[in-house]
Amino acid sequence: MRLSSCFMPTLKENPAEAQVTSHRLMLRAGLIRQTSAGIYIWLPLGLRVMRKIEQIVREEQDRTGALEILMPTIQPAELWQESGRYEAYGKEMLRITDRHDREMLYGPTNEEMITDLFRATVKSYKDLPLNMYHIQWKFRDEIRPRFGIMRGREFLMKDNYSFDIDGEAGRISYNKMYVAYLRTFARLGLVAIPVRADTGAIGGDLSHEFQILADTGESTLYYDKEIENFDLVSLTGDIDPTTIEKLQSLYAMEEEKHDAENCPVAPEDLRCAKGIEVGHIFFFGTKYSDAMNAKVTGPDGNLIPVEMGSYGVGVSRLVGALIEANHDDNGIIWPEAVAPYKVGLVNLRIKDDDCTAACDDLYQKLTTAGVEVLYDDRDMGAGGKFADMDLAGLPWQLIVGPRGLKNGVVELKNRRTGHREELSLSDAVNKLGA
Ligand code: ATP
Ligand code: MG
Repeated sequence: MRLSSCFMPTLKENPAEAQVTSHRLMLRAGLIRQTSAGIYIWLPLGLRVMRKIEQIVREEQDRTGALEILMPTIQPAELWQESGRYEAYGKEMLRITDRHDREMLYGPTNEEMITDLFRATVKSYKDLPLNMYHIQWKFRDEIRPRFGIMRGREFLMKDNYSFDIDGEAGRISYNKMYVAYLRTFARLGLVAIPVRADTGAIGGDLSHEFQILADTGESTLYYDKEIENFDLVSLTGDIDPTTIEKLQSLYAMEEEKHDAENCPVAPEDLRCAKGIEVGHIFFFGTKYSDAMNAKVTGPDGNLIPVEMGSYGVGVSRLVGALIEANHDDNGIIWPEAVAPYKVGLVNLRIKDDDCTAACDDLYQKLTTAGVEVLYDDRDMGAGGKFADMDLAGLPWQLIVGPRGLKNGVVELKNRRTGHREELSLSDAVNKLGA
């Protein structure tokens, strides 16, 4: 992508409304624009990052055998009246009346809708286990939307729902998701601590939140310091079941569940930290299947209410959480897995024919090699270009100027380490294309 034809409305000044780094940097780097409180337009670079996160989340779900579907954002009120949550959800639910005076709502989550789908279509234990997910926009009329897209009103969530014949099978499904979440966050380069959580409005008794440590986090967590010895960012691929057992056995609680008096961890071994919740998994048994009469015939022919769990990942919130975990004074530092582009190609002298020819050639060769390049071909000073590249946070900067070219070299800068090296043009292509 040529920057001259890209839409990346950067800001020089810090926007006054932004209280946290990620919100500030997302506005400054031109990733999002607010349209009303807690509602945002995703601009090209921001959208690319969100799509990459979404794809990693999807791949890890698919890997577990969960099936992707897409449920609508608008739901009929009756389903929620049946489960009893229409009133219970209160003002966070955006209620809508259609032209025929039917009560509708913009879905804050989808337990009711999927339970309705299940009861209408699945009749036998032989069709279980079943796990379906979708990645869809949600609306919650948060009392205090803040921190940009991290606590928005409209936000993108991956949510899935498991159906099992009994509690034991339900817990197996739950643990599969627990492992999928560890993998997902590890692939995003994040340390997300699984803490035991309250089940709140969803109900049930088993629940974990996945929390990224950050001073600006809205949750408070208490955990055994031994958890820090788990190399959570390396937990990709197949994870040894004993690792999971060990991790689940260690004390880690969100504030509401932490009981200081009866805590089994000695005070000197207990860590207290702020966290950003990026995922939340629940096993709630038959809460919805009882309320909504979702039953299957068991092996003996009797009708059995199905055991359910639900599992959420805050896909749009992750964009902000990733920036909270990856930035410096000059801007964002994207992990390669989610960067909008891998390389920023900086042409220092557009008006110099040799320089521009070399850049055009590098751009073409890198693109052909499958490397995603953002090519700064704008006619402006070097200082502004460097500042914008640092702000945008692409993992690599390939800097091309007339002086280096005379000696046949370009400069490659690693955004995270700041390390710079001079390379021949072909070595640069080989290194970035590898
Ligand atoms: P929170 O405690 O942050 O309000 P929640 O418990 O209401 O979250 P869940 O219902 O568990 O959230 O939703 C699953 C995931 O969706 C959360 O882990 C979070 O990452 C994301 N999420 C929830 N609310 C918002 C929001 N207002 N803006 C962006 N993401 C959100
Ligand atoms: Mg929660």
